[in-house]
Amino acid sequence: MDNKQLKEVKRIVRNIPDFPVKGIQFKDLTTAFKDPEALQVMVQAMTDLYRDKGVTKVVGIEARGFIGGAILATQLNAGFVPLRKPGKLPAEVIQKSYTKEYGTDTIEIHRDAITPDDVVVLHDDLLATGGTMLAAYELVKSMNPKKVYINFICDLADLHGRDVFPEDVEITSLFTF
Ligand code: AMP
Repeated sequence: MDNKQLKEVKRIVRNIPDFPVKGIQFKDLTTAFKDPEALQVMVQAMTDLYRDKGVTKVVGIEARGFIGGAILATQLNAGFVPLRKPGKLPAEVIQKSYTKEYGTDTIEIHRDAITPDDVVVLHDDLLATGGTMLAAYELVKSMNPKKVYINFICDLADLHGRDVFPEDVEITSLFTF
């Protein structure tokens, strides 16, 4: 993937100061998703990263991780699995609670969604502190798949989210703010 093209996608991402609370610089990726060329560039870049890895399932984190995650699954001929907020999934689930800046949060996945034969890519739109994805990673790991990769469209360098993961986890991000 031409780096210039990803730089252009990064330029298109809209920054919203003080959303949803004061002090947060919110990266609004909808401006990149709605641009046909930017969407193609993101999809191709993600697909190139995982094309030869034998991926069988892409797990997307609610809600923004559903967009890129479902597209990536299609591109890789893999299945798509939603990782959701509590009470949304209808069948038997396993769950994990994790600490956020204020209070705690919980994520859930269907107990039969991942099997030991699976090679998984976990996908979300953005890596900030890493708390959400670390919980997702630990939840999916507890289901004993062959391998778990982690992918983001972008990450916020100042928050050092990568540091919360074990060193051997392969994490990719298409561009960094
Ligand atoms: P974290 O658990 O801190 O890594 O937060 C990651 C989750 O929160 C992702 O699902 C993001 O969509 C969302 N998020 C956190 N910070 C931002 C931000 N500055 N701009 C856009 N989304 C964010």
